[in-house]
Amino acid sequence: MGFWETVGNTPLIELGNLSAQIGRRILAKAEFLNPGGSVKDRAAKGIVAAAEAAGRLPSGGTIVEGTAGNTGIALALIANERGYACTIVVPDDQSSEKIDLLKTFGAEVHVVPAVPFTNPANYYHVARKIAVETPNSIWADQFENLANRQAHETTTGPEIWEQSGGAIDAFVTSAGTGGTVAGVAIALKARDADMLTVLCDPMGSSLYSYLNFGELRFEGESDLEGIGIKRITANFDGAPIDRAIRIEDADAIAMTRWLLDREGLFVGGSSGLNVAGAVRIAKELPEGSTVATILCDGGGRYLSRLFNDEWLREHNLSIRRRSPQR
Ligand code: PMP
Repeated sequence: MGFWETVGNTPLIELGNLSAQIGRRILAKAEFLNPGGSVKDRAAKGIVAAAEAAGRLPSGGTIVEGTAGNTGIALALIANERGYACTIVVPDDQSSEKIDLLKTFGAEVHVVPAVPFTNPANYYHVARKIAVETPNSIWADQFENLANRQAHETTTGPEIWEQSGGAIDAFVTSAGTGGTVAGVAIALKARDADMLTVLCDPMGSSLYSYLNFGELRFEGESDLEGIGIKRITANFDGAPIDRAIRIEDADAIAMTRWLLDREGLFVGGSSGLNVAGAVRIAKELPEGSTVATILCDGGGRYLSRLFNDEWLREHNLSIRRRSPQR
């Protein structure tokens, strides 16, 4: 088994101490245990497999993508194993750990200013342009390429269903491209139409207002990486998501810290936000209910940020050892 075959089939971990505190079971899919260290290994594998099957990626070709980091990390590693070159465009507001990893893995990295999507200098548009100008290349296009959500519909979702024995009352997670939430929601609803599916959105993202009020509006901002978006992507569009909730960074970061201190799970901020969202929904459900969520990536990618007191102070966030019951 190589990198390719090792993607997926991650454990579904019961967060034992948290579940005991709230009287409801929280199950978390340990996506940080994928070989590239994040949930994006699945999307990257799905995108490359689809391009290969369509004959669009010749041997020795180049994979180009604009990414907040984890998709690029997955693509760079897959490119190494399968003999492709890899060019990644990253906005400059991402953690230096992720950019350093991309360079270490041998990808050609273009760090561009973090500007809004409407600006042609946005990393997404720059990546598309590089792909157009590079012979024998594909633009992975994780936002619009449905191979992303199909990877979750055919692997993550069915795995959660089987590993839990179908005994889940709700599934809660956040969205970057929307591939994870949409693909898993499609798979779970197909198996149990009554399953509650919930998006937990960071501040500064428009999906909360889109799902609840039908309008793309946002309030506030978030320093969490890889999640939150102000437009509807093909991967998110039409996903069977029942409702949305919003989680503040302070609560997400407090939960990230709590998971480390009390569960021994060293994960990133989107994982903390997802678990905080899962707890919020679980408390609305009867005691003994089960809620599943996703641990998207590991904490090592954020040592200089979420786990750095100075960075937290600069961003008006402090490490609070907060009881998840409050
Ligand atoms: N968390 C992190 C850390 C991520 O990098 C991503 C991917 N952007 C997500 C969550 C969200 O995943 P998706 O793109 O499937 O919505």
